[in-house]
Amino acid sequence: MFFSSSGPPLKRLFLGLILMAGSLVPQHRAAAETVIVLDPGHGGHESGAVWGGVREKHLNLNIARRVESILRSRGYTTVMTRRKDVFISLDYRARVANQFRRSVLVSIHCNSDGRQRGRGIETYYAGSSGKRLARQIHRRLDSRTSTPNRGLKPCRFSVLRRTDCPAALVECGFLSSKSERRLLCSPAYQQRVALAIAEGIAIGIR
Ligand SMILES: [Zn+2]
Repeated sequence: MFFSSSGPPLKRLFLGLILMAGSLVPQHRAAAETVIVLDPGHGGHESGAVWGGVREKHLNLNIARRVESILRSRGYTTVMTRRKDVFISLDYRARVANQFRRSVLVSIHCNSDGRQRGRGIETYYAGSSGKRLARQIHRRLDSRTSTPNRGLKPCRFSVLRRTDCPAALVECGFLSSKSERRLLCSPAYQQRVALAIAEGIAIGIR
């Protein structure tokens, strides 16, 4: 018990709410002030990779929503570049992140390989601040999944280049691989991937 249970009911409720709020606020000031922009890749007429009837755009949104829900439940501030199956430009995605004084952008994608040999996770970054964020996300993904680690990679993807804040792009697995596609479609695996991404972000923005 952190407070006396003998006070008037309203006072007890008020104290309880303060304690609850306190326990959810991110412990580091930088993290508390950072707006986490989650960017589910593709959308609308742009499906991304399509294999076995599964469209990448839907998986990206599912995983991003889970990341959002985990981060919000832990007191972080999040913004989604899209919440529905709509097309948005790369420029728009970057502009969403650029409007905040302090933000990070994390794009969420699934991979594809025409020869269907590719397996595993990879995380991209642009610039040194993006690298720090991407490294934390990638480490968590590697420890929470048993899929091959394809590494942390620099890139010149347009969405990362147009973003002024630290930015990372996560490829959560290969839709072109039958076994990884099955995993990526499972709610339990989506949650595991989302948890890894959320934990990586929480550490990466400290
Ligand atoms: Zn994609």
